[in-house]
Amino acid sequence: MAFRRLASLVFFALSACPMLPAQAVTREEVEAGAAKLYAERIDEARQRFELDADPVFLARVRRIAASLIERSALEPDAASGLAWEIHTTTDPEENASCMAGGKILVGQTYVRNLALNDAELAMLIAHEMEHALLQHNLKEAQEALRLEPEWQQQPYASLEYAIDHSESLMRKLDAFDVQQEFDADREGMRLAVHAGWPAAGLTNYFRKLVRHDPMANVDRREHPAPARRWRAAQALVRELEQKPGAPS
Ligand SMILES: [Zn+2]
Repeated sequence: MAFRRLASLVFFALSACPMLPAQAVTREEVEAGAAKLYAERIDEARQRFELDADPVFLARVRRIAASLIERSALEPDAASGLAWEIHTTTDPEENASCMAGGKILVGQTYVRNLALNDAELAMLIAHEMEHALLQHNLKEAQEALRLEPEWQQQPYASLEYAIDHSESLMRKLDAFDVQQEFDADREGMRLAVHAGWPAAGLTNYFRKLVRHDPMANVDRREHPAPARRWRAAQALVRELEQKPGAPS
């Protein structure tokens, strides 16, 4: 009897122990938060710059994205049920981004400066799409909770803010984020190849990044050096070409 009581007390203590697995962040929370932030960014782009200013460029981006979105439904391990939304901005600071749930923003100045052709633009968009397809925002939030479990006690919105603004948390997440960038490159290229884009044309995007960047060999905190991305892309093309029956 005493043993049973002790066992139940131990069980109760473990149940209440803060070292137990982090309180779960849900995909719904992350996607709702991203949708709100995206709406704010779109508003800002509309007020400070021009949103979807060039209908020809917008149509080009959406046409390329449509071919990738269609193919993504067939990819294993990709999130389904994403509510894709695609806009362009003249904000010179915007390269391209994709938030949880499939919220894409492409910078027209960035694409023009790199003079991206359709295959190179497909690589850029496929990379961004993979951040949503691989649920990178959700996985990053889960990693943040693992690194700093005290965020379990806070609402998700506080954690979401900290991931982008807390210097200590961001520093801890840097290596994780770098790996997510490589994963988005790799799976993005696979997706684009499966959608019918030529591998050589896709890798040219990374070559252009190297050519346009005087510090192409230097890693940036959460972003790997363009030269490393270029080498990884070339290795992946060799791997895809060696697989019998692989799409060309
Ligand atoms: Zn990325």
